Amino acid sequence: MAIISESNEKKFKKYGNTQFRYAAVYVLITLVVLTFLNVYCAKTSQELFYKSKEASMIERCLMISADIGELEVINTATVSGAIEQVGTLNYTRLLVTDDSGRVIFDANDTDSASGQYADFPEITEALSNMDVFSWTYHDGLMVSNAAVPIVNYDTIVGCVYMTENDNEQGALMKSLLRNIFWITLVLEIVVVLFSVAFSRAFARRLRRITASMHIIRGGDYSHKVIVGGKDELTLLGDEFNDLTDRLQSAELERRQFVSDASHELKTPLASIKLLSDSILQNDMGVETIHEFVEDIGAEADRLNRMSAKLLSLSKVESQIVEDCEIVYMKPTLDRVTKMLHMIASNKNISVIHDIQCDSPILIYEDDLYEIIFNLFENGIKYNAPNGTLTISVLRDGDNAIMRFTDTGVGIPKESQAQIFERFYRVDKARSRQSGGSGLGLSIVHSMVQRNGGTISVESTPGNGSVFTVTFPVFDTEEESQLESLT
Ligand code: ADP
Repeated sequence: MAIISESNEKKFKKYGNTQFRYAAVYVLITLVVLTFLNVYCAKTSQELFYKSKEASMIERCLMISADIGELEVINTATVSGAIEQVGTLNYTRLLVTDDSGRVIFDANDTDSASGQYADFPEITEALSNMDVFSWTYHDGLMVSNAAVPIVNYDTIVGCVYMTENDNEQGALMKSLLRNIFWITLVLEIVVVLFSVAFSRAFARRLRRITASMHIIRGGDYSHKVIVGGKDELTLLGDEFNDLTDRLQSAELERRQFVSDASHELKTPLASIKLLSDSILQNDMGVETIHEFVEDIGAEADRLNRMSAKLLSLSKVESQIVEDCEIVYMKPTLDRVTKMLHMIASNKNISVIHDIQCDSPILIYEDDLYEIIFNLFENGIKYNAPNGTLTISVLRDGDNAIMRFTDTGVGIPKESQAQIFERFYRVDKARSRQSGGSGLGLSIVHSMVQRNGGTISVESTPGNGSVFTVTFPVFDTEEESQLESLT
Protein backbone atom coordinates (compact mmCIF):
# COMPACT_ATOMS: atom_id res chain seq x y z
CA MET A 1 0.00 0.00 0.00
CA ALA A 2 1.63 3.26 -1.11
CA ILE A 3 0.22 5.42 1.64
CA ILE A 4 3.58 6.48 3.07
CA SER A 5 4.45 9.71 1.34
CA GLU A 6 7.95 11.03 0.83
CA SER A 7 7.49 13.80 3.43
CA ASN A 8 6.31 11.19 5.91
CA GLU A 9 9.33 9.05 5.15
CA LYS A 10 11.57 12.05 5.97
CA LYS A 11 9.67 12.59 9.20
CA PHE A 12 10.13 8.95 10.23
CA LYS A 13 13.84 9.30 9.65
CA LYS A 14 13.95 12.54 11.65
CA TYR A 15 12.24 10.89 14.62
CA GLY A 16 14.62 7.93 14.68
CA ASN A 17 14.39 4.36 13.58
CA THR A 18 12.30 2.23 15.91
CA GLN A 19 12.94 -0.78 13.71
CA PHE A 20 16.72 -0.58 14.20
CA ARG A 21 16.41 0.11 17.92
CA TYR A 22 14.12 -2.87 18.50
CA ALA A 23 16.37 -5.19 16.50
CA ALA A 24 19.48 -3.98 18.34
CA VAL A 25 17.84 -4.50 21.73
CA TYR A 26 16.69 -8.05 20.84
CA VAL A 27 20.11 -8.98 19.50
CA LEU A 28 21.88 -7.56 22.52
CA ILE A 29 19.62 -9.34 25.00
CA THR A 30 19.93 -12.70 23.26
CA LEU A 31 23.68 -12.23 22.86
CA VAL A 32 24.06 -11.73 26.60
CA VAL A 33 21.80 -14.70 27.39
CA LEU A 34 23.49 -17.03 24.92
CA THR A 35 26.99 -16.01 26.06
CA PHE A 36 25.99 -16.68 29.61
CA LEU A 37 24.56 -20.09 28.66
CA ASN A 38 27.66 -20.86 26.63
CA VAL A 39 30.02 -20.08 29.50
CA TYR A 40 27.78 -21.85 31.99
CA CYS A 41 27.58 -25.05 29.90
CA ALA A 42 31.33 -25.10 29.32
CA LYS A 43 32.08 -24.54 33.00
CA THR A 44 29.56 -27.14 34.18
CA SER A 45 30.79 -29.84 31.80
CA GLN A 46 34.40 -29.15 32.80
CA GLU A 47 33.37 -29.35 36.44
CA LEU A 48 31.74 -32.72 35.83
CA PHE A 49 34.87 -34.05 34.14
CA TYR A 50 36.97 -32.68 36.98
CA LYS A 51 34.86 -34.26 39.72
CA SER A 52 34.74 -37.72 38.16
CA LYS A 53 38.46 -37.64 37.34
CA GLU A 54 39.40 -36.49 40.82
CA ALA A 55 37.34 -39.24 42.47
CA SER A 56 38.77 -42.02 40.31
CA MET A 57 42.43 -40.90 40.50
CA ILE A 58 42.42 -40.25 44.28
CA GLU A 59 40.77 -43.67 44.76
CA ARG A 60 43.50 -45.38 42.75
CA CYS A 61 46.26 -43.48 44.60
CA LEU A 62 44.71 -44.38 47.97
CA MET A 63 44.59 -48.08 47.04
CA ILE A 64 48.32 -48.00 46.28
CA SER A 65 49.22 -45.90 49.36
CA ALA A 66 47.21 -48.23 51.63
CA ASP A 67 49.14 -51.27 50.37
CA ILE A 68 52.51 -49.51 50.66
CA GLY A 69 51.64 -48.20 54.14
CA GLU A 70 51.40 -51.76 55.40
CA LEU A 71 54.96 -52.65 54.30
CA GLU A 72 57.59 -53.21 57.00
CA VAL A 73 60.36 -51.97 54.76
CA ILE A 74 59.77 -49.40 52.01
CA ASN A 75 62.16 -49.63 49.04
CA THR A 76 61.93 -49.96 45.27
CA ALA A 77 61.47 -53.73 45.35
CA THR A 78 58.83 -53.85 48.10
CA VAL A 79 56.89 -50.90 46.57
CA SER A 80 56.98 -52.50 43.11
CA GLY A 81 55.63 -55.72 44.65
CA ALA A 82 52.86 -53.90 46.46
CA ILE A 83 51.83 -52.08 43.24
CA GLU A 84 51.75 -55.36 41.35
CA GLN A 85 49.46 -56.75 44.05
CA VAL A 86 46.97 -53.91 43.51
CA GLY A 87 46.57 -55.10 39.92
CA THR A 88 46.26 -53.23 36.62
CA LEU A 89 45.63 -49.53 37.04
CA ASN A 90 45.35 -46.97 34.26
CA TYR A 91 47.81 -44.07 34.45
CA THR A 92 50.38 -42.28 32.37
CA ARG A 93 52.96 -42.01 35.11
CA LEU A 94 53.16 -43.29 38.66
CA LEU A 95 55.75 -42.18 41.23
CA VAL A 96 56.23 -43.23 44.84
CA THR A 97 58.47 -40.99 47.00
CA ASP A 98 59.81 -41.22 50.54
CA ASP A 99 58.97 -38.58 53.15
CA SER A 100 61.60 -36.19 51.74
CA GLY A 101 60.17 -36.32 48.20
CA ARG A 102 62.88 -38.54 46.77
CA VAL A 103 61.53 -40.99 44.16
CA ILE A 104 61.64 -44.62 45.36
CA PHE A 105 59.62 -46.03 42.51
CA ASP A 106 58.88 -44.76 38.97
CA ALA A 107 56.55 -46.82 36.78
CA ASN A 108 58.35 -45.44 33.71
CA ASP A 109 61.02 -47.94 32.75
CA THR A 110 62.66 -45.54 30.37
CA ASP A 111 63.74 -42.19 31.65
CA SER A 112 63.13 -43.29 35.26
CA ALA A 113 63.36 -40.63 37.98
CA SER A 114 64.25 -43.12 40.72
CA GLY A 115 66.64 -41.63 43.26
CA GLN A 116 65.88 -38.03 42.23
CA TYR A 117 63.82 -35.50 44.17
CA ALA A 118 60.44 -34.94 42.55
CA ASP A 119 59.75 -31.24 42.55
CA PHE A 120 55.99 -31.24 42.01
CA PRO A 121 53.74 -29.00 44.12
CA GLU A 122 51.22 -31.88 44.45
CA ILE A 123 53.96 -34.03 46.11
CA THR A 124 54.89 -31.25 48.54
CA GLU A 125 51.26 -30.86 49.55
CA ALA A 126 50.66 -34.63 49.84
CA LEU A 127 53.69 -34.91 52.16
CA SER A 128 51.99 -32.39 54.45
CA ASN A 129 49.14 -34.92 54.78
CA MET A 130 46.74 -33.82 52.04
CA ASP A 131 45.02 -35.61 49.18
CA VAL A 132 45.76 -33.43 46.17
CA PHE A 133 44.27 -33.28 42.69
CA SER A 134 45.06 -30.83 39.89
CA TRP A 135 43.90 -30.60 36.36
CA THR A 136 44.82 -28.73 33.19
CA TYR A 137 43.14 -28.66 29.80
CA HIS A 138 44.62 -27.24 26.66
CA ASP A 139 43.54 -27.74 23.07
CA GLY A 140 42.14 -31.25 23.43
CA LEU A 141 44.73 -32.56 25.92
CA MET A 142 43.62 -33.10 29.49
CA VAL A 143 46.39 -33.64 32.05
CA SER A 144 45.34 -34.73 35.58
CA ASN A 145 47.63 -35.11 38.58
CA ALA A 146 46.80 -36.69 41.94
CA ALA A 147 48.95 -37.24 45.04
CA VAL A 148 48.13 -38.82 48.40
CA PRO A 149 50.37 -39.38 51.49
CA ILE A 150 51.54 -42.88 52.52
CA VAL A 151 50.86 -43.31 56.24
CA ASN A 152 52.63 -45.95 58.34
CA TYR A 153 51.66 -46.14 62.02
CA ASP A 154 50.42 -42.52 61.99
CA THR A 155 53.60 -41.27 60.34
CA ILE A 156 53.84 -39.95 56.80
CA VAL A 157 56.52 -42.04 55.18
CA GLY A 158 56.08 -40.87 51.60
CA CYS A 159 53.54 -40.21 48.88
CA VAL A 160 51.96 -41.70 45.75
CA TYR A 161 51.88 -39.39 42.75
CA MET A 162 49.90 -40.27 39.62
CA THR A 163 49.61 -38.46 36.27
CA GLU A 164 47.12 -39.21 33.54
CA ASN A 165 47.14 -37.70 30.03
CA ASP A 166 43.62 -38.04 28.70
CA ASN A 167 43.38 -37.52 24.93
CA GLU A 168 39.94 -39.11 24.58
CA GLN A 169 38.27 -37.06 27.33
CA GLY A 170 40.10 -34.00 26.04
CA ALA A 171 38.78 -34.56 22.53
CA LEU A 172 35.29 -35.04 23.94
CA MET A 173 35.60 -31.79 25.85
CA LYS A 174 36.93 -30.03 22.76
CA SER A 175 34.04 -31.19 20.58
CA LEU A 176 31.54 -30.27 23.31
CA LEU A 177 32.89 -26.73 23.54
CA ARG A 178 32.96 -26.48 19.75
CA ASN A 179 29.36 -27.67 19.48
CA ILE A 180 28.17 -25.21 22.12
CA PHE A 181 29.94 -22.44 20.24
CA TRP A 182 28.35 -23.33 16.89
CA ILE A 183 24.90 -23.77 18.39
CA THR A 184 25.26 -20.35 19.99
CA LEU A 185 26.36 -18.80 16.73
CA VAL A 186 23.51 -20.36 14.73
CA LEU A 187 20.99 -19.34 17.40
CA GLU A 188 22.31 -15.79 17.39
CA ILE A 189 22.04 -15.60 13.59
CA VAL A 190 18.46 -16.90 13.76
CA VAL A 191 17.67 -14.34 16.47
CA VAL A 192 19.18 -11.54 14.39
CA LEU A 193 17.15 -12.57 11.33
CA PHE A 194 13.94 -12.94 13.30
CA SER A 195 14.33 -9.70 15.22
CA VAL A 196 15.09 -7.77 12.04
CA ALA A 197 12.04 -9.31 10.32
CA PHE A 198 9.82 -8.75 13.35
CA SER A 199 10.91 -5.19 14.01
CA ARG A 200 10.56 -4.34 10.31
CA ALA A 201 6.98 -5.65 10.36
CA PHE A 202 6.27 -3.76 13.60
CA ALA A 203 7.76 -0.52 12.27
CA ARG A 204 5.82 -0.95 9.01
CA ARG A 205 2.55 -1.16 10.96
CA LEU A 206 3.46 1.88 13.04
CA ARG A 207 4.23 3.79 9.86
CA ARG A 208 0.84 2.84 8.46
CA ILE A 209 -0.89 4.32 11.51
CA THR A 210 1.17 7.53 11.35
CA ALA A 211 0.58 7.83 7.60
CA SER A 212 -3.16 7.36 8.12
CA MET A 213 -3.17 10.04 10.81
CA HIS A 214 -1.45 12.34 8.34
CA ILE A 215 -4.11 11.66 5.69
CA ILE A 216 -6.95 12.19 8.17
CA ARG A 217 -5.34 15.38 9.43
CA GLY A 218 -5.60 16.56 5.83
CA GLY A 219 -9.40 16.25 6.09
CA ASP A 220 -10.10 12.83 4.58
CA TYR A 221 -12.18 11.44 7.46
CA SER A 222 -13.33 8.47 5.39
CA HIS A 223 -9.79 7.05 5.38
CA LYS A 224 -9.36 3.87 7.43
CA VAL A 225 -6.22 2.53 9.10
CA ILE A 226 -5.54 -1.09 8.16
CA VAL A 227 -3.00 -2.42 10.63
CA GLY A 228 -3.58 -6.17 10.33
CA GLY A 229 -2.78 -8.80 12.96
CA LYS A 230 -4.49 -9.24 16.31
CA ASP A 231 -2.61 -7.34 19.00
CA GLU A 232 -2.39 -3.97 20.75
CA LEU A 233 -1.55 -2.23 17.46
CA THR A 234 -4.69 -3.69 15.89
CA LEU A 235 -6.65 -2.36 18.85
CA LEU A 236 -5.00 1.03 18.43
CA GLY A 237 -5.96 0.99 14.73
CA ASP A 238 -9.56 0.03 15.56
CA GLU A 239 -9.83 2.75 18.20
CA PHE A 240 -8.40 5.22 15.75
CA ASN A 241 -10.93 4.18 13.09
CA ASP A 242 -13.75 4.61 15.62
CA LEU A 243 -12.43 8.07 16.39
CA THR A 244 -12.38 9.06 12.72
CA ASP A 245 -15.90 7.64 12.30
CA ARG A 246 -17.05 9.93 15.08
CA LEU A 247 -15.14 12.85 13.58
CA GLN A 248 -16.71 12.13 10.23
CA SER A 249 -20.25 12.00 11.61
CA ALA A 250 -19.62 15.12 13.72
CA GLU A 251 -18.36 16.90 10.61
CA LEU A 252 -21.39 15.75 8.60
CA GLU A 253 -23.69 16.84 11.41
CA ARG A 254 -21.98 20.22 11.57
CA ARG A 255 -22.36 20.74 7.83
CA GLN A 256 -25.98 19.62 7.95
CA PHE A 257 -26.65 21.96 10.86
CA VAL A 258 -25.07 24.94 9.09
CA SER A 259 -27.03 24.25 5.92
CA ASP A 260 -30.32 23.67 7.81
CA ALA A 261 -29.83 26.77 9.94
CA SER A 262 -29.02 29.01 6.98
CA HIS A 263 -31.99 27.59 5.10
CA GLU A 264 -34.29 28.27 8.05
CA LEU A 265 -32.96 31.77 8.54
CA LYS A 266 -33.31 32.50 4.83
CA THR A 267 -37.12 32.15 4.87
CA PRO A 268 -37.95 34.97 7.36
CA LEU A 269 -35.24 37.13 5.79
CA ALA A 270 -36.75 36.60 2.35
CA SER A 271 -40.21 37.50 3.74
CA ILE A 272 -38.84 40.70 5.30
CA LYS A 273 -37.18 41.64 2.01
CA LEU A 274 -40.36 40.89 0.04
CA LEU A 275 -42.57 42.87 2.40
CA SER A 276 -40.25 45.88 2.50
CA ASP A 277 -39.88 45.84 -1.33
CA SER A 278 -43.66 45.77 -1.64
CA ILE A 279 -43.97 48.82 0.60
CA LEU A 280 -41.35 50.69 -1.42
CA GLN A 281 -42.56 49.72 -4.87
CA ASN A 282 -46.31 49.99 -4.39
CA ASP A 283 -48.39 52.97 -3.65
CA MET A 284 -50.16 51.74 -0.52
CA GLY A 285 -52.50 53.27 1.93
CA VAL A 286 -51.37 53.85 5.53
CA GLU A 287 -53.42 50.92 6.76
CA THR A 288 -51.84 48.45 4.34
CA ILE A 289 -48.38 49.78 5.13
CA HIS A 290 -49.15 49.30 8.81
CA GLU A 291 -50.19 45.70 8.13
CA PHE A 292 -46.99 45.02 6.14
CA VAL A 293 -44.80 46.55 8.85
CA GLU A 294 -46.57 44.37 11.41
CA ASP A 295 -45.71 41.30 9.28
CA ILE A 296 -42.11 42.48 9.06
CA GLY A 297 -42.06 42.76 12.86
CA ALA A 298 -43.49 39.21 13.21
CA GLU A 299 -40.79 37.82 10.90
CA ALA A 300 -38.12 39.70 12.85
CA ASP A 301 -39.52 38.18 16.07
CA ARG A 302 -39.31 34.76 14.49
CA LEU A 303 -35.68 35.38 13.53
CA ASN A 304 -35.03 36.47 17.08
CA ARG A 305 -36.61 33.37 18.56
CA MET A 306 -34.79 31.16 16.13
CA SER A 307 -31.37 32.66 16.88
CA ALA A 308 -32.10 32.36 20.63
CA LYS A 309 -32.96 28.67 20.15
CA LEU A 310 -29.89 28.10 17.97
CA LEU A 311 -27.75 29.58 20.72
CA SER A 312 -29.46 27.43 23.32
CA LEU A 313 -28.96 24.34 21.14
CA SER A 314 -25.28 24.98 20.54
CA LYS A 315 -24.83 25.52 24.28
CA VAL A 316 -26.57 22.30 25.23
CA GLU A 317 -24.73 20.34 22.53
CA SER A 318 -21.34 21.66 23.54
CA GLN A 319 -21.96 19.67 26.73
CA ILE A 320 -21.34 22.57 29.07
CA VAL A 321 -22.67 21.01 32.25
CA GLU A 322 -23.84 23.65 34.66
CA ASP A 323 -24.15 23.22 38.42
CA CYS A 324 -26.99 20.84 39.19
CA GLU A 325 -29.41 21.47 42.03
CA ILE A 326 -31.97 19.40 43.90
CA VAL A 327 -35.27 20.76 42.62
CA TYR A 328 -38.95 19.87 42.63
CA MET A 329 -40.94 19.99 39.40
CA LYS A 330 -44.00 21.87 40.66
CA PRO A 331 -42.39 25.28 41.42
CA THR A 332 -40.80 25.40 37.95
CA LEU A 333 -44.08 24.26 36.37
CA ASP A 334 -45.84 27.14 38.20
CA ARG A 335 -43.31 29.64 36.82
CA VAL A 336 -43.84 28.40 33.25
CA THR A 337 -47.63 28.43 33.71
CA LYS A 338 -47.43 32.07 34.79
CA MET A 339 -45.57 32.86 31.56
CA LEU A 340 -47.83 30.93 29.21
CA HIS A 341 -51.31 31.12 30.72
CA MET A 342 -52.17 34.20 28.65
CA ILE A 343 -51.32 32.44 25.39
CA ALA A 344 -53.34 29.41 26.52
CA SER A 345 -56.37 31.46 27.47
CA ASN A 346 -56.14 33.43 24.19
CA LYS A 347 -56.53 30.10 22.40
CA ASN A 348 -59.15 29.00 24.90
CA ILE A 349 -57.06 26.05 26.03
CA SER A 350 -57.72 24.77 29.56
CA VAL A 351 -54.55 23.97 31.44
CA ILE A 352 -54.94 21.34 34.19
CA HIS A 353 -52.26 20.62 36.82
CA ASP A 354 -52.45 17.07 38.12
CA ILE A 355 -49.83 16.95 40.89
CA GLN A 356 -49.93 13.42 42.35
CA CYS A 357 -46.45 13.17 43.84
CA ASP A 358 -43.69 15.74 43.42
CA SER A 359 -40.28 14.15 44.09
CA PRO A 360 -36.88 15.85 44.21
CA ILE A 361 -34.61 15.46 41.20
CA LEU A 362 -31.01 16.48 40.54
CA ILE A 363 -31.01 18.84 37.58
CA TYR A 364 -29.84 22.23 36.35
CA GLU A 365 -32.95 24.30 37.05
CA ASP A 366 -32.74 26.39 33.87
CA ASP A 367 -32.77 23.14 31.87
CA LEU A 368 -35.92 22.00 33.69
CA TYR A 369 -37.54 25.37 32.93
CA GLU A 370 -36.62 25.11 29.24
CA ILE A 371 -37.91 21.50 29.03
CA ILE A 372 -41.25 22.34 30.67
CA PHE A 373 -41.59 25.58 28.67
CA ASN A 374 -41.11 23.89 25.27
CA LEU A 375 -43.44 20.97 25.98
CA PHE A 376 -46.04 23.29 27.53
CA GLU A 377 -45.82 25.70 24.56
CA ASN A 378 -46.18 22.82 22.05
CA GLY A 379 -49.18 21.53 24.02
CA ILE A 380 -50.83 24.90 23.39
CA LYS A 381 -49.52 25.45 19.82
CA TYR A 382 -50.60 22.09 18.46
CA ASN A 383 -53.82 21.81 20.50
CA ALA A 384 -57.29 21.97 19.04
CA PRO A 385 -59.34 25.12 19.73
CA ASN A 386 -61.04 24.84 23.16
CA GLY A 387 -58.75 21.88 23.89
CA THR A 388 -57.17 20.76 27.13
CA LEU A 389 -53.56 20.44 28.23
CA THR A 390 -53.06 18.27 31.32
CA ILE A 391 -49.69 18.34 33.06
CA SER A 392 -49.24 15.46 35.52
CA VAL A 393 -46.45 15.16 38.06
CA LEU A 394 -46.15 11.67 39.55
CA ARG A 395 -43.70 9.07 40.78
CA ASP A 396 -43.12 5.53 39.58
CA GLY A 397 -40.66 3.66 41.81
CA ASP A 398 -37.34 5.50 41.63
CA ASN A 399 -38.53 7.74 38.78
CA ALA A 400 -40.07 11.18 38.89
CA ILE A 401 -42.40 11.62 35.93
CA MET A 402 -43.87 14.67 34.22
CA ARG A 403 -46.50 14.03 31.57
CA PHE A 404 -47.96 16.54 29.06
CA THR A 405 -51.27 15.30 27.60
CA ASP A 406 -52.95 17.45 24.97
CA THR A 407 -56.05 17.09 22.87
CA GLY A 408 -54.46 18.45 19.70
CA VAL A 409 -53.64 17.41 16.15
CA GLY A 410 -51.42 14.50 17.20
CA ILE A 411 -48.34 13.20 15.41
CA PRO A 412 -48.38 10.50 12.69
CA LYS A 413 -46.60 7.26 13.69
CA GLU A 414 -43.89 7.62 11.02
CA SER A 415 -42.94 11.11 12.31
CA GLN A 416 -42.83 10.25 16.01
CA ALA A 417 -39.17 9.14 15.93
CA GLN A 418 -38.09 12.22 13.94
CA ILE A 419 -39.70 15.03 15.93
CA PHE A 420 -36.63 15.18 18.23
CA GLU A 421 -34.35 15.91 15.25
CA ARG A 422 -33.24 19.45 14.56
CA PHE A 423 -35.53 21.48 12.25
CA TYR A 424 -37.95 18.58 11.84
CA ARG A 425 -41.57 19.69 11.62
CA VAL A 426 -44.54 17.49 10.82
CA ASP A 427 -46.52 20.30 9.27
CA LYS A 428 -44.11 23.03 8.20
CA ALA A 429 -46.83 25.57 7.42
CA ARG A 430 -48.57 25.06 10.75
CA SER A 431 -45.33 25.24 12.70
CA ARG A 432 -44.22 28.41 10.91
CA GLN A 433 -47.63 29.97 11.34
CA SER A 434 -47.44 29.36 15.06
CA GLY A 435 -43.91 30.78 15.19
CA GLY A 436 -42.17 27.39 15.43
CA SER A 437 -38.56 26.80 14.52
CA GLY A 438 -38.35 22.99 14.61
CA LEU A 439 -35.68 23.28 17.31
CA GLY A 440 -37.69 23.09 20.54
CA LEU A 441 -37.94 19.30 20.87
CA SER A 442 -34.31 18.70 19.88
CA ILE A 443 -33.25 21.13 22.64
CA VAL A 444 -35.58 19.35 25.08
CA HIS A 445 -34.17 15.94 24.05
CA SER A 446 -30.55 17.03 24.56
CA MET A 447 -31.33 18.66 27.91
CA VAL A 448 -33.24 15.64 29.21
CA GLN A 449 -30.39 13.37 28.18
CA ARG A 450 -27.63 15.46 29.71
CA ASN A 451 -29.52 15.48 33.02
CA GLY A 452 -29.81 11.68 33.04
CA GLY A 453 -33.49 11.49 32.02
CA THR A 454 -35.56 10.06 29.18
CA ILE A 455 -38.31 11.44 26.96
CA SER A 456 -40.93 9.57 24.95
CA VAL A 457 -44.02 10.36 22.93
CA GLU A 458 -47.30 8.55 22.33
CA SER A 459 -49.72 10.08 19.92
CA THR A 460 -52.82 9.37 17.87
CA PRO A 461 -53.35 11.78 14.97
CA GLY A 462 -56.52 13.75 15.52
CA ASN A 463 -56.77 12.77 19.20
CA GLY A 464 -53.74 14.37 20.80
CA SER A 465 -50.27 13.56 22.10
CA VAL A 466 -48.67 12.53 25.37
CA PHE A 467 -45.06 13.55 26.06
CA THR A 468 -43.52 11.78 29.07
CA VAL A 469 -40.32 12.99 30.71
CA THR A 470 -38.66 10.81 33.36
CA PHE A 471 -35.83 11.64 35.76
CA PRO A 472 -34.33 9.50 38.52
CA VAL A 473 -35.59 10.62 41.93
CA PHE A 474 -32.84 12.11 44.08
CA ASP A 475 -32.62 10.15 47.31
CA THR A 476 -32.64 12.88 49.99
CA GLU A 477 -32.36 10.29 52.80
CA GLU A 478 -29.13 9.02 51.38
CA GLU A 479 -27.84 12.57 51.15
CA SER A 480 -28.73 13.40 54.77
CA GLN A 481 -27.11 10.15 55.90
CA LEU A 482 -23.97 11.11 54.04
CA GLU A 483 -24.06 14.62 55.52
CA SER A 484 -24.42 13.27 59.09
CA LEU A 485 -21.41 11.04 58.53
CA THR A 486 -19.19 13.86 57.31
P1 ADP B 1 -41.57 23.73 16.59
O1 ADP B 1 -40.87 24.97 16.90
O2 ADP B 1 -41.86 23.58 15.12
O3 ADP B 1 -42.75 23.51 17.44
P2 ADP B 1 -40.46 21.46 17.94
O4 ADP B 1 -39.09 20.90 17.86
O5 ADP B 1 -40.94 21.91 19.25
O6 ADP B 1 -40.50 22.59 16.85
O7 ADP B 1 -41.45 20.37 17.39
C1 ADP B 1 -41.14 19.66 16.21
C2 ADP B 1 -42.40 19.25 15.53
O8 ADP B 1 -43.06 18.23 16.28
C3 ADP B 1 -43.42 20.34 15.40
O9 ADP B 1 -43.20 21.09 14.25
C4 ADP B 1 -44.70 19.59 15.35
O10 ADP B 1 -44.95 19.18 14.03
C5 ADP B 1 -44.45 18.36 16.20
N1 ADP B 1 -44.99 18.52 17.57
C6 ADP B 1 -44.35 18.90 18.67
N2 ADP B 1 -45.16 18.89 19.75
C7 ADP B 1 -46.37 18.50 19.31
C8 ADP B 1 -47.64 18.28 19.94
N3 ADP B 1 -47.83 18.47 21.23
N4 ADP B 1 -48.66 17.88 19.15
C9 ADP B 1 -48.48 17.67 17.84
N5 ADP B 1 -47.32 17.85 17.19
C10 ADP B 1 -46.29 18.27 17.90
